[in-house]
Amino acid sequence: MPSAQILPTGASARSGWLARYAIAIAATVACAGLRLVFDPYYHDDLVFLLFVPALLASAAVGGLGPTLLAGAISTLFSMAFSGFRGLDDPEMLVRAALFAVLTVTIGLIGSRMLRNAEALKHIVADLQAREAHLESILETIPDAMIVIDERGVVRSFSTAAERQFGWTAAEMVGRNVDHLMPEPYRAHHDSYLLRYLATGERRIIGIGRVVVGERKDGTTFPMELSVGEMRSGDQRFFTGFVRDLSERQQTERRLQDLQGELVHVGRLTALGEMASALAHELNQPLTAAANFMKGSLVLLKRQPLDEARLADMISQGADQALRAGQIIRRLRDFVSKGEADRRIESLPTLLEEAGALAMVGAKERNVRLRYALEPSADLVLADKVQIQQVALNLIRNGIEAMEDSSQKDLVVGARTLPDDMVEIWVSDTGHGITTEAAGRLFQPFMTTKTQGMGIGLSISRTIIEAHGGRIWAEPNPQGGATFRFTLPGVRAEELTEDE
Ligand code: ADP
Repeated sequence: MPSAQILPTGASARSGWLARYAIAIAATVACAGLRLVFDPYYHDDLVFLLFVPALLASAAVGGLGPTLLAGAISTLFSMAFSGFRGLDDPEMLVRAALFAVLTVTIGLIGSRMLRNAEALKHIVADLQAREAHLESILETIPDAMIVIDERGVVRSFSTAAERQFGWTAAEMVGRNVDHLMPEPYRAHHDSYLLRYLATGERRIIGIGRVVVGERKDGTTFPMELSVGEMRSGDQRFFTGFVRDLSERQQTERRLQDLQGELVHVGRLTALGEMASALAHELNQPLTAAANFMKGSLVLLKRQPLDEARLADMISQGADQALRAGQIIRRLRDFVSKGEADRRIESLPTLLEEAGALAMVGAKERNVRLRYALEPSADLVLADKVQIQQVALNLIRNGIEAMEDSSQKDLVVGARTLPDDMVEIWVSDTGHGITTEAAGRLFQPFMTTKTQGMGIGLSISRTIIEAHGGRIWAEPNPQGGATFRFTLPGVRAEELTEDE
């Protein structure tokens, strides 16, 4: 299409050029007209001054060329008004020369201003084009974009953000961004911002992490958030890009589900193998110990008593018993050290995934699951699959304990402890720990359920202790039970120190 565009552009440039000269001529003629109207009051000494407005108008509209034309015509008029006596009047010639200098100066300034205005127009058009481009990109990418100011007030809310959070831009712009996050983050968001502004300490800006978002209808979803900082003049803005992870999470959850099943089956097989190995290995020293005991008994009944032999036999029996102990310890070490794959993991993600998995089918039974995760309890050093097994087991136990409760509330919480450990708890409003189970909760094969295996808590304890943590249970004052365990935490600062 380029040739089609050249014609109107060339034609409009030509007509613009003519218009500028026409304006210059008209302005000069108008000034001359004024001179004629005010003829009786006019003093010829000021004759050139009268045309300055014409010069200014020509310069503003047309730049140097039209101003020079206006200057030339003005000089002619001025000469004419003074009856062309200027040709032999040196004073008049000087005035004409000064007027010429003024004309050129005003013309140059006008040209410069017009060029600047033209450049500005290009810049504005360029900026508008870029903004439109950016907006079209932002409207199509699946990530939501939210811009907030230093006080946390939303300044811009993209179409994807509207889709993800259920709020419209009109509703969100001007509101605090904390409306998009659940408690306890909501209550603390303003103080996070203030702390960052005061200390410059980065917890999320430029780092990006998985957090929980809250939609308008109160439901929550895991999201990946990365935040950038931007300065405009003396104001600071923060731009957050949000990716909804629920879909990815669902796929991962399905995989995890399968993996979880495999791990479970794997554990049962391992347990079976371990039991037969244990029986085989222990049989020997225990039989030997029993034989030594029996032998000692025979020796005891004989007279005279052979004390030295008796002592030797009892000591050998004791050695065999100790050997049996060693075998058990070795097996325990093997189980606990296992093939743990410990990494730095995001605790909220880990727990939310386990929660979602454990809640399959529980929502229909009116069980409500709430998270109370302290933002500082964010990273842990753990084998994700194993810890999810523990969390899953505790949540399922909680759901089962609430089977007959009218109120079915589960809370999964996490907080940091002073010694760099993180405590995770699962609290329910179920029947509580029965006296039958209390004290033996973590023992293998201890169950109060008809369909129970009684190995969930014992495996959980093995896993937690192998991670260097502890697991225990407490009754809730208002009924129900809380199971707690600890894990080594990782402080975000440790990871970002060299930033
Ligand atoms: P299982 O669930 O197969 O019985 P576990 O080792 O997971 O095996 O649990 C052992 C026992 O601990 C359960 O049978 C139950 O008596 C008790 N228990 C576990 N969790 C809870 C809970 N949240 N509330 C009350 N009792 C519980």
